[in-house]
Formats: sequence, C-alpha cells, structure tokens
Amino acid sequence: MFLKRLNEFRRTLAFRLTLWYAGIFTLSSCLAFLFFYVLIADFIQERTDQELLRQVKDFSQILNLRGVETVKRVAVREAQAAGEKKVFFRLLYANGSVFSSSNMSYWQTIDIGQNAIRQLINGSPPVFETINVFGHDHKVRVLYGMLSPQIILQLGISMEGYTRFIEAFRRISLFTMSLLLVVAALIGWFMARRALTGVGNVTRTARHISEGTLKERVPVNTRGDEIDQLAETFNQMLDRIEQLVSGIKEMSDNIAHDLRSPITRIRGLAEVTLTSGQHPDDYQQMAASTIEECDRLLHMINTMLVISKTEAGIDEFEFKKIQIDAIVKDACELFQPAAAQKNINLKCKATNVMAIKGEVGMIQRMVANLLDNAIKYSTPGSIVELKTEPALKQQMNLVITDSGVGIAPQDLPHIFERFYRCDESRSLGGVGLGLSLARAIARVHGGDIMVTSKPGKGSTFTVTLPLVDIQM
Ligand code: ADP
Repeated sequence: MFLKRLNEFRRTLAFRLTLWYAGIFTLSSCLAFLFFYVLIADFIQERTDQELLRQVKDFSQILNLRGVETVKRVAVREAQAAGEKKVFFRLLYANGSVFSSSNMSYWQTIDIGQNAIRQLINGSPPVFETINVFGHDHKVRVLYGMLSPQIILQLGISMEGYTRFIEAFRRISLFTMSLLLVVAALIGWFMARRALTGVGNVTRTARHISEGTLKERVPVNTRGDEIDQLAETFNQMLDRIEQLVSGIKEMSDNIAHDLRSPITRIRGLAEVTLTSGQHPDDYQQMAASTIEECDRLLHMINTMLVISKTEAGIDEFEFKKIQIDAIVKDACELFQPAAAQKNINLKCKATNVMAIKGEVGMIQRMVANLLDNAIKYSTPGSIVELKTEPALKQQMNLVITDSGVGIAPQDLPHIFERFYRCDESRSLGGVGLGLSLARAIARVHGGDIMVTSKPGKGSTFTVTLPLVDIQM
C-alpha cells in the first residue's frame, strides 16, 4: 500500500518539477562554489608566490650591498622570526651543493631540485615547486632564485594557512549546499503545487462530469496565465458539449413528437376501419391513407439523413460549374402555379450572368425549400421576390423576400435548427427540416444563409455563395 502510494507520488508532475528544480539549483550552486574556490585558491597562491619573490629580491640586494656573510645571518634570523617550522632558507652554489641554511631539522626530507637548478643556470626566471613532504600535514611551496651568478637561494614556505582555508571552505560549502538543497526542494515543491492547483481543479471537474453532471465549471482566476487559459478553454468546451447534448435531447424530443402524430393517425385509421369498416372501399381508403402517412414519414427520415450526411460531409458530391441564374429561372417557373393558387405575385430577377461551383440537385433543393417557405408563409395578394446579385469578396447573394407573416425575434435564432417550427406555423404543413437542409447545403458549398424578418411585415433570406469565373 505504502509502496503503491510512493510510486504514484513519484509519477506526479509536482514531484518531477521539484526534482528538476532542486537538481538545477544544486548544480548551479555547485558551479558557483567551484568558481569561488578556484578563484580564492588561485589568489592565495599568487600572494604566497609574490611574498617568496620579494624575499629573493631582498636577499639579492643584501648580497650586493653587504656580502654573503650578511645574507647567511639574515637568512637564519628571518627563519627564526617567521618560525622555523614555517619557513626555511638554503644557500646553494651553482652546482647545487649547500653552503649555508637556516635550521633544517624540521625540513630534513626536502631535497634540492636539480631540475630547477638546471633551469636557473640556463637563464630561466625563478622556479616554483609545490611538494608533499613525508611526515608533514601540509604541502610546501618552494622557490629557487639566483642571488648572483654563483649563489642560488632555495626558499620554502609551509602552505598550512592555504590548506586550512581550503578545508574550511570545503566544510562550509558542504554545509551550505545541503541546506540549500533542502530549501530548494521545499521551494520547488511549494511552487509546483501552487502552479498545478489549477490543473487539479480541471481534473476534479472532469471527474465530476464523468460521474454525470454537465453543469459544473472550473473556477477561473483573473491572472490570465496558462492555467487560466486551460480552465477557460475547458469551460468553453463544456459549454459546447452541454449545448450539443441539449440540442440532441431537444431533437430526439422533436423526432419523437413528429413521429408520434403520423403513427397515431395510422393507428387510429386502422382501428376505425377495423371496428366500423364494412365495405372493401373502406379498407382501400385506409391503405391509401397509410401509404400517404408512410410517405411523409419516409420523406422526413430521408431529409434528416441528407442533412446529417451533408453536415458531416460524408457524401461525395460532384461539384460542377452551375449557372445560378438558370436555376433561379427554373425555380420561378416551377413555383409559379403554387403562387398563383394563393394569389401571390412571384417575381424573379436574375439578369446577372453568374456561376458557382456546386451540385445542381442540392442547389435546386435549397432554392425550392426557401421559395416554398416564402409562398407558404405569405398572405394572399402579397409579393414574393427571388433575385441574384453580386456581393463582396468574389461572392454572390441569392435573395428571397416575402411580405408574409414574418418571424418573431425570439424564434429567429432557432429557425435553422432541426424540427424547429414557430408556434404560428404549426397548423401549416411541414416538419421543420427545410431550413436546416437549406443551411447545410449552403455551408457545404462554402456559403451561408442569413435572415432578417419583422413580424407581420415579412422576411428576407439571403444565401451567400462563392462565385467562380464564368469563363472557366
Ligand atoms: P417548415 O417545414 O416548418 O417550413 P422550415 O425548417 O422550413 O420548416 O422552417 C422552420 C420555421 O421557420 C417554420 O416553421 C416557420 O415558422 C419559420 N419560417 C421559415 N421561413 C419563413 C418565412 N419565409 N416566413 C415566416 N416564417 C418562416
């Protein structure tokens, strides 16, 4: 159980972020310490070397002014003053043999560097060496310098101070680094937790939604950071899903409602004929009515299928160049008798020669649906006009205007939804699919349909479609 929790914890983003943060922090601290270490160690050694060089210079001056005996005496005195365990002096001939020195009892094991002497004889500047002395805790920095062409000074100084400093520095660094590591891990953990609370909220909301409530939303802060953007996008997605789900629900309610009426009618007809029908004519009439109702049902189901396929782009359409004016003229001719029957003046204005790319059958169906509505929802004696006109951005408008019943403002946003019918239209024929299909067709052709309407004054439906070059 504990191991499982530990494994889960190790997989969390917060843990990995903390690890990265602490790791990077520690690495950069290590580099900074190393840099200081090298810098300070170099500085101390430089100072030691400068001190040794100054001594060689002083001794060389004493040799020049006072002679070798004074140099011998000063060397002994200097060693005593500084501490015979800290420094030593040796005076050598050019062949490397010692002719005088300070008290060397502590430094017995230090040899004469023949190599350094050779270099000096060959004219090189003073030679430095750092050596480990057997039995001593600290290293020794040794300098060989020429006092005169015959006399060489070997001068050594214990690097005790240097070693002590380095050790202290190492101890302090280790302690500070461990402390920093803990602090970095804590800060990293705190920051990761803070940054990921928003993600946690999104996860929690998603979990609640998967348990069944679509109403919940992720709280959004005003910071506007990435997490807020994620929360906002997530909420927008939920809005859309909720909208779709309620749309589907509404549609299935409408389908159920629209299927129930014809089925109830068929059933009622059959029942009446069965109980009271005596003549074969009664049965024939029942069969004819049943076929009529079934045809209506089939028409509705087929239209739904066409809308779904068109919207989903499943059907492969054969798009060809179409003369839109020809379609408009044909539609006018086709609907003239229906308009005349209702005493409606159907006007057609299609004088522009314009071409679009599309499927003739579908475009005809779209125009027919719109024209059918315009006539259906117009009062006798009114005018219905169908015209084409060029529009901006290489497009054209197909405008259908009627002066009929019009559409109430609260219905306008819904009339393109499947099965939506305004209350006033329920008494008239139709199932509420004509406009959905018309819009699906317009969109699959790269266009759209807009509507403006005033109740009691009439409506204007404008289909915008992209034009193609007429010469093509
Ligand atoms: P229907 O089969 O009911 O005509 P549509 O999808 O074609 O279905 O239209 C949806 C609803 O939009 C109609 O029921 C009607 O209320 C309204 N409508 C469509 N066209 C017009 C119009 N030209 N004038 C007034 N109302 C219209």
